Amino acid sequence: MAKAIRTTCAYCGVGCGIRAAVTGARSVEILGDPDHPANRGRLCSKGTHLGETVGLQGRLLYPMIAGRRVSWDKALDLVARRFKETIARHGPGSVAFYVSGQLLTEDYYVANKLMKGFIGSANIDTNSRLCMSSAVAGHMRAFGEDVVPATYEDLDAADLFVLVGSNTAWCHPIVYQRIRARCEAGAKLVVIDPRRTETAEEADLHLAIRPGSDVALMNGLLQYCRETGIVDEAYLGAHVAVPADFWDRLGEGNDLWSAARICDVAAADLRHFYELFAATPRTVTLFSQGINQSTAGTDQVNAITNLHLATGRIGKPGAAPFSITGQPNAMGGREVGGLASTLAAHRDFAAESRASVQRFWAAPTMAEKPGLKAVDMFRAVGEGRIKALWVMATNPAVSMPDANRVREALGGCPFVVVSDVVEKTDTTAFAHVRLPAAAWGEKDGTVTNSDRTISRQRALFPLPGEARPDWWIVKEVARRMGWKTAFAYDRPADIWREHCRLSTYENEGARRFALPGAAQGGNAAYDAMLPFRWGGDRPFADGRFSTEDGRARLISVAQKPLADPLAKWPLTLNTGRYRDQWHSMTRTGLAPKLARHREEPLVEMHPSDGARHGLSNGALARVDTPQGESLYRVAYCEGQRAGELFVPIHWTDRTASGGRTGLLPRPLVDPVSGQPGFKRTPASIALV
Ligand code: SF4
Repeated sequence: MAKAIRTTCAYCGVGCGIRAAVTGARSVEILGDPDHPANRGRLCSKGTHLGETVGLQGRLLYPMIAGRRVSWDKALDLVARRFKETIARHGPGSVAFYVSGQLLTEDYYVANKLMKGFIGSANIDTNSRLCMSSAVAGHMRAFGEDVVPATYEDLDAADLFVLVGSNTAWCHPIVYQRIRARCEAGAKLVVIDPRRTETAEEADLHLAIRPGSDVALMNGLLQYCRETGIVDEAYLGAHVAVPADFWDRLGEGNDLWSAARICDVAAADLRHFYELFAATPRTVTLFSQGINQSTAGTDQVNAITNLHLATGRIGKPGAAPFSITGQPNAMGGREVGGLASTLAAHRDFAAESRASVQRFWAAPTMAEKPGLKAVDMFRAVGEGRIKALWVMATNPAVSMPDANRVREALGGCPFVVVSDVVEKTDTTAFAHVRLPAAAWGEKDGTVTNSDRTISRQRALFPLPGEARPDWWIVKEVARRMGWKTAFAYDRPADIWREHCRLSTYENEGARRFALPGAAQGGNAAYDAMLPFRWGGDRPFADGRFSTEDGRARLISVAQKPLADPLAKWPLTLNTGRYRDQWHSMTRTGLAPKLARHREEPLVEMHPSDGARHGLSNGALARVDTPQGESLYRVAYCEGQRAGELFVPIHWTDRTASGGRTGLLPRPLVDPVSGQPGFKRTPASIALV
């Protein structure tokens, strides 16, 4: 076997280490890295079949303007000129970047620096907004900073796992294997999910709650803990600020019976969960899109952080709330300010932070305030307020909610640039300029996984055609816009070192943001970098949080009323992933073995709903929502709650004539985080 190169899986936020042995011009053998702390040699089906996805089929290999191949110089000159002209004529707020959790940290850093420090706008947002921005907002409110206060080692120490809105067995399989191993040693597993998923099938207790009732469930549990003396008054007294009316407000309508009624579960089952939680100090609560992708996502996150803070189950082995991220580098993007609402190095837009970052960058025009978040950004494109848009490594024409309106917006935008590895995506169809980006296996840089472990992605193959890394493309545009010195990067290590220096620049008080000095070595150190955890192994172990007074915060959150179904929309639509597919299948769609698991998009529904709507198992049906319609094959599913539908997110115009799920959700967002509420869309269904 050829010498193995240590790299990191391209897919989810588990961030598994890989040993990749190149066996030919475009072929590679993939094995799990036994020395990587995230996976210890294991890989799931997607990671195992990565080698089948590295061919050049469908790749964008040359810059293109209006569908014709051009030189890099011509394409870059045009992008720089059009952005400069637009800014000169309409101001910095008239341009935007929409980027991706697929970018490496170095790519993210350069794009963020160009937009926020040099163009002078914060109109750079990321598809991570669709994934975990409510977790970010919840962490900020509770802890004073965006830190995930858990690690994978906590999974090895927990006695109770509470999985909320997460089909972990399918979506984070290696994390799930670790949970199962602990359960085989006696730990308990509770799954809170409207669907009886594969994860729920194996749980000690499954609470199939009504979608959107999570706050009622968690508030009821906190009230139960208070009544049964489980609240850790000493911890609260020493480390947590509790609003004066917090307990009074919690006491109103959050008894077990009320919670059971709102959640639509048996009170006996809810009591079982509450008793289990109360009796088990070493509890890890893992949450994912069922919590985050909600118009009450931030409140739902804080209902969970409240529980852990109030019971002192944080900063200790096997006790923490744990946001498990979707994408491979959502966390790295958070570190370098890839969200419109943050600056680099986890700083905010306070005058002092802005001035400091501006000094460090020697930036001419610093963004003064947060920029447009994803849904607002595409609305601004549609309304003509954004006149030049650069989309990097993502496919918003499919993945944004209300995708029909996003397509109309892209179609009407005067100047759209798309840098991508794929020649024809639903979004590149709207691009005036297409720029060929380097893919996994060709690019070099770092990613940060869900438990803050930073790992290297390494190139396995030479760059094909004229593809270039994203950081290179952005810096070449920046240099053509006139900022040569500030973007004089020759390789990703140059950017990494700058990012490390910024993490400590005028930031001596930062305990967790700082990247270690050892990480700032020369090129050889960067090339040899081993996985290491950013932010320490156990944040908050000392009970000090990053608020001004050092105390965490309990946040009063109340369950929002859940509207009853309307006659026109008698069903509730939820969305999610399949085990063996990733996003819009541009990569996993290349691996035939992965298609075998689910060959077409299904609408899962309870058999009683099928009978009620005249739909037999296997029938072709049209799902309608206020936003759009799409076709699916009906799959009867006993694990589906009556009155609710489930559809996958992966299929697109390119991959099927149906299953275009992005057309269906409403563009409603959480008011704090701006994350779209993909779940709970009113829907109807009919035979085609
Ligand atoms: Fe890749 Fe995620 Fe599977 Fe690990 S769990 S191999 S990171 S897809």
